[in-house]
Amino acid sequence: MTTPMPQPTEFKLLEQRDLRLTWNDGHTTRFSLQRFRDECPCAGCQGESDIFGEVKMPMQLPIAIPGKYELKSLTPVGNYAVAARWGDGHDTGIYSWEYLLAMEARLNQQSDTATQKKTATGDTDPPSHTPPASGNNRPSDTPPPRDNATSGSESPTDSDV
Ligand SMILES: [Zn+2]
Repeated sequence: MTTPMPQPTEFKLLEQRDLRLTWNDGHTTRFSLQRFRDECPCAGCQGESDIFGEVKMPMQLPIAIPGKYELKSLTPVGNYAVAARWGDGHDTGIYSWEYLLAMEARLNQQSDTATQKKTATGDTDPPSHTPPASGNNRPSDTPPPRDNATSGSESPTDSDV
């Protein structure tokens, strides 16, 4: 049960900023190089899961490394992936077609939710407002408990012996 996976037929760099993939099923995908690099699938970028399944995230440097988002080359790896080499020398990211499709799916998911938010007008009524509890239901008609009830038999003032 192998589903035929589309394969990219062309990688094209657009304006040194975006990478456009053309797939053999006709569709195209466009990643910004920044996204492409940020989603680098290598263990150094995505964190390596240890034997307990915990993912150790690599330390992120706050400074942008020169050339980090500069794609130097894409080298085919077999017939299932490309290896990217970046301007900062990073070349361990191997993007399988499967990974690229997953990246695309994430991208589409994000833009879908964005458009849904945009098209969702506020016409639908919000759920009915519950009136604020303003303290009207204070039990004001119950008398306060009296603890100075007359007991009579044990008067503490009985000290005139
Ligand atoms: Zn990497």
